[in-house]
Amino acid sequence: MAAASGGPERETLRFLTARECVDVRTAHGTPTYVYDAATLKAQAAKALDFPNAFGLTVRYAMKASPNAAILKIFRNAGLKIDASSGHEVRRAVRAGFDHADCSLSTQEFPEFFEELVKKGLKVNACSLSQLEAFGAAFPGAEIGLRFNPGLGSGGTGKTNVGGPSSSFGIWHELLPEARAICEKHGLKVVRIHTHIGSGSDPAVWQKTSGMSLDLCREFPTVETLNLGGGYKVGRMAYEKSTDLAVVGAPVKALFEAFAKETGRELRLEIEPGTFLLANSCAIVCTVQDKVTTGAASDGGHVFLKLDAGMTEVLRPSLYAAQHPLVTVSAATGKEPEGTEKYVVVGHCCESGDLMTPGPDDAEEIAERAMGEVERGDLLVVEGAGAYCAGMSGKNYNSFPEAPEVMRTAEGTFHVIRKKQSLEQIMANEVELPDDAC
Ligand SMILES: *Cc1c(COP(=O)(O)O)cnc(C)c1O
Repeated sequence: MAAASGGPERETLRFLTARECVDVRTAHGTPTYVYDAATLKAQAAKALDFPNAFGLTVRYAMKASPNAAILKIFRNAGLKIDASSGHEVRRAVRAGFDHADCSLSTQEFPEFFEELVKKGLKVNACSLSQLEAFGAAFPGAEIGLRFNPGLGSGGTGKTNVGGPSSSFGIWHELLPEARAICEKHGLKVVRIHTHIGSGSDPAVWQKTSGMSLDLCREFPTVETLNLGGGYKVGRMAYEKSTDLAVVGAPVKALFEAFAKETGRELRLEIEPGTFLLANSCAIVCTVQDKVTTGAASDGGHVFLKLDAGMTEVLRPSLYAAQHPLVTVSAATGKEPEGTEKYVVVGHCCESGDLMTPGPDDAEEIAERAMGEVERGDLLVVEGAGAYCAGMSGKNYNSFPEAPEVMRTAEGTFHVIRKKQSLEQIMANEVELPDDAC
């Protein structure tokens, strides 16, 4: 067995105590997503403090994690909704939002958009064909335009959604065509929207904010500028989070300068997902096996196999995302004293189901230092709030969807999504007649 060594720092639990992890396993089994209401509320308060000159609306980009309990917490905190599909709008409404609280920026314009718009949904047209469809259905109505400002920035190529390699939004050079469609249908452009990527570079984000204001200049009826989300959050201890007060201050100044020059006081909208959710959830897992592939000097590793994996958190396989991994001893209910280096893998029959990829390469196997554990101990995947439960390799290998639990401010745990059953996985299967098999 590899001896404990220095290596990178061990990560620590964020909001759960080691004892609570054991209790969660006893009460709910593993894997279980545990959200923290206090962290969700604290992040919402920080977002609502975003520097602004003439008013602010914060929309939760609900694709980050769409559970109704999370939506309700944010509704009570005063957030509105950024929806990425018509189905998300319906989910938000079921959780208590009005249609008018929701703004839709989507790659796939829903067939049922007319019904939603009649009830008050705000639409940001993300392509010329969406704009044409909206204008034909609602001549003379108010509309938002999502532009691709020609510049993007994301933590990875997969999360960069601006620039010529990205299909998101109306390409900025097509502004005359967009204007012509608006004129044809008498549409009043009241919002400009840009969102350039997740985990974006603050400097690039600020630059596109200026470019987005230039787009507002082109449409004198615009009242609101929506600058999207993408605020980078450190999950690992060594990663830095964007300070909203710092990135927002120069943008506030740009709005003020714009007002001085044009007499127009624009309202600011932002749409964070990651910022609100990333560190608000941990997945409590069990180390269900521990195997070795021989001596480290011969290229061997000690592997921990979780009872979770890409079925709960796809980000490491997809983006080589780094999530803090913290072990807890079942016997002591504490984080172990000794440190060991492990490769941590998920439970799927796929070598890509790797929880410890190299930081820049999802295929690279990297070892991580963590508290020494044995089979049956616990391992907690931290930083699992955004794009985990909502974006997983659900039901691969027929593993049922894991339950979601909310830790309240009082420290009680409420189930907010039950564990899926095998029957539910197969519920929509239809039998093929025997003579066709
Ligand atoms: C995904 C998305 C967001 C949120 O991005 P984060 O990186 O999670 O903050 C905001 N706006 C739009 C249009 C999105 O698609």
